[in-house]
Amino acid sequence: MSRILCAFACGILWLSSAQAQEQKPPPFAATRVDGTENVYIFRYGNTQAMFVVTKDGVIATDPIGYGRPQASTTYVDEIKKITDKPIKYLIYSHHHFDHIAGGKPFKDAGARIIAHKRAKERLAVIKDPATPLPDETVDKKRILNLGGTTLELTYVGVNHSDSSLVMRLPNEKLIFLVDFIPVGTLPGRGMIDFYPLEAESSIKQVLTMDWERLIPGHPGSPGGRLGTKKDAQDQLTFLQDASEAVKVEARQGKCWDPVEKEMKLPKYENWPNYQTALPFVLRRYCGLWGRGT
Ligand SMILES: [Zn+2]
Repeated sequence: MSRILCAFACGILWLSSAQAQEQKPPPFAATRVDGTENVYIFRYGNTQAMFVVTKDGVIATDPIGYGRPQASTTYVDEIKKITDKPIKYLIYSHHHFDHIAGGKPFKDAGARIIAHKRAKERLAVIKDPATPLPDETVDKKRILNLGGTTLELTYVGVNHSDSSLVMRLPNEKLIFLVDFIPVGTLPGRGMIDFYPLEAESSIKQVLTMDWERLIPGHPGSPGGRLGTKKDAQDQLTFLQDASEAVKVEARQGKCWDPVEKEMKLPKYENWPNYQTALPFVLRRYCGLWGRGT
């Protein structure tokens, strides 16, 4: 009897682990974005960046090599498999190392590094050996034209960081936007240096821009999908709901505890990282409404 049970149960276990392996994505991939001729996403693990191949060279973004220099060298190798044109630019989305560490292979290939001016100020102080300083900085806006492609870099104020650039391809109606509008998930540990009030204003500005699809810096949920304006609006609504709910409790003296330990936002409990991310969100809004920061 037990042998029969085992044969049955172990069969299920074996099947589920085989299925899990089948569904596991390869460690990295360079994929052309559907509906475009020359826009690509390079993903390594759970982080990704956009690059654009033009007849006069490549515009790359975010080397994504934090603690894994092989990610950046693989990124350059993958570009070289697609084109023999030089990498002309490397643009940093913001100053966080999980996105911009590892730029040396791009610099060595001749790329000019562009970032928001605040990113350069931060990097100049911290002197991370894996992260080359920008050659050029952007304040409010910069438009790059290369080989028939236009890429618009816009600063919409402080939000997830104080150095985030929105990268928009107006002809393709695409934006590459990292971390301040997660696609289908809650923001998590990144709340540590988040600007809660200003982030709402940033997202509203992004919603007024002309675009249809958003390439996020971490694959969207589910299935690594791209984002839409609905995702941006949903993220804004989530932040507003969380902010308002914590404000009410904070004014009754309930920050840090019991808000951090007990508060729930059941409307969002089906978002995939709800359990792990919610405490970081609550802590940040307690900082705002219960502390004044
Ligand atoms: Zn970030």
